[in-house]
Amino acid sequence: LEAAHTELADVYDELAIAARTDGMTRLLNRSSFVTDLDEIGQRGAGGVLLVIDADDFKNINDTHGHLVGDQALCAIASVIRNVVGETGLAARIGGEEFAVFLHGANVNAAFTVAERIRSHSHGIGRALGLPGDEVSVSIGIALHRSGQDLEDVLRAADRSLYVAKNNGRDMVVCDEALPVAA
Ligand code: GH3
Ligand code: MG
Ligand code: MG
Repeated sequence: LEAAHTELADVYDELAIAARTDGMTRLLNRSSFVTDLDEIGQRGAGGVLLVIDADDFKNINDTHGHLVGDQALCAIASVIRNVVGETGLAARIGGEEFAVFLHGANVNAAFTVAERIRSHSHGIGRALGLPGDEVSVSIGIALHRSGQDLEDVLRAADRSLYVAKNNGRDMVVCDEALPVAA
């Protein structure tokens, strides 16, 4: 009976993880990301939100096929996981769209993380054996002040992302004033 209980507990844990994560990339799914952020928001701690969108992804699929597209998305997720590590929450919030929340980070630190994700994504095309350096991401950054509505922060990050897309993609944009580099 005890063994059966342990087994059930394991199954339950697996189901709980499956319900919280995206099956393809194993990152958090959108709804658990939003739930986690709401909880963090209620504790009154701010942070920085990154919205990361794969560039010209329709073209990747059209040129190389959907399977290669899926592999590229998994590779982007790995880059995000490796860069963020235990320092933040990482999620797949849409088809080719990801988000990272860096709890308690300032904009400067978040910019460094975003630049690392952007630049490391350049290795993906080669790793997948594609002829060119075709896989890239654009990133919008928004500060999450404590108590601020999450939807507002997501909208702000989306606005920055839109600017990055309009300025040629493969770019990190933040509408917060960055301190002048020393
Ligand atoms: P932009 O740089 O402006 O973001 O261009 P885009 O082509 O990435 O954007 P758009 O929104 O036009 O197209 C998104 C594409 O991402 C189309 C869709 O088929 C693809 N996509 C979304 N989810 C998946 C997925 O799970 N696997 C694959 N292979 N492709 C996906
Ligand atoms: Mg895209
Ligand atoms: Mg998109």
